Amino acid sequence: MNAAILPSALSATPIGTPADEKNFLLAVEALTVSFDGFKAVNDVSFYVDPDEIRVIIGPNGAGKTTVLDLICGRTKASSGSIKYKGQELTKLSESAIVQAGVGRKFQTPSIYDDLTVFENLEISFPRGRSVFGALTFKRDAEVRDRIHEIAQTIFLKDQLDERAEFLSHGQKQWLEIGMLLIQDPELLMLDEPVAGMSVGERIKTAELLNQIIKGRSVLVIEHDMKFVEDIAHRVTVLHQGKVLSEGSMERVKNDPKVVEVYLGH
Ligand code: ADP
Ligand code: MG
Repeated sequence: MNAAILPSALSATPIGTPADEKNFLLAVEALTVSFDGFKAVNDVSFYVDPDEIRVIIGPNGAGKTTVLDLICGRTKASSGSIKYKGQELTKLSESAIVQAGVGRKFQTPSIYDDLTVFENLEISFPRGRSVFGALTFKRDAEVRDRIHEIAQTIFLKDQLDERAEFLSHGQKQWLEIGMLLIQDPELLMLDEPVAGMSVGERIKTAELLNQIIKGRSVLVIEHDMKFVEDIAHRVTVLHQGKVLSEGSMERVKNDPKVVEVYLGH
């Protein structure tokens, strides 16, 4: 996995081009966006492994949400590259990026209040495969099984027939994660998923994220340091649009630069 055990044939490859040497799920390189000359994201590079939970932390205005906006295609990069499974995303539309397997949850949940939990999950099931006659029946069964499986994962199996408006704030957040999971993204991006949740809900959300990473990676923006410790494989710290520090939570937490701009107050 690491450079030390690469076959010797590759050892002549110049250093500093990690994306060529390793199968990252996501490789962000020299990513920059300016809004009227203000660089909200300024020369940001980071690499996410398959099955990794990466957390992005940083003070308000650091550019965290903008990084997710760039990856999901909502904002177009001024320069730099975003490669997902080797495919350049900066040239793709938002819907093509979803099709490629990137799911993104925004800060405010976008669920349908007047539909049940079951129906919310059902409408999120990927379409596109046209089916007729007897096949429709088979598909219905497949969808139903998948909805039950997801409902179990997001702690809502007893709420399937409940209208979404009656769910607690935390349950609504889980439902939205479920609506993304049913599309089976290989990269799932969550912007402050535990904001407004109770301590108990935060612990369950950490459990949930640790459960769903088989076969996928999760990129999370979060402020709650206890939650970050519970989930992060690695942490990337953004500050004023740049990467300030990166590594294990332990390493980042003890980095004097991070303490000064972020954790110190
Ligand atoms: P964070 O999520 O880390 O709090 P954001 O990514 O939301 O920060 O914002 C980073 C900076 O970019 C902020 O100063 C914000 O005002 C600015 N910004 C974000 N989006 C836009 C936009 N569409 N147009 C102009 N400025 C923006
Ligand atoms: Mg934000």
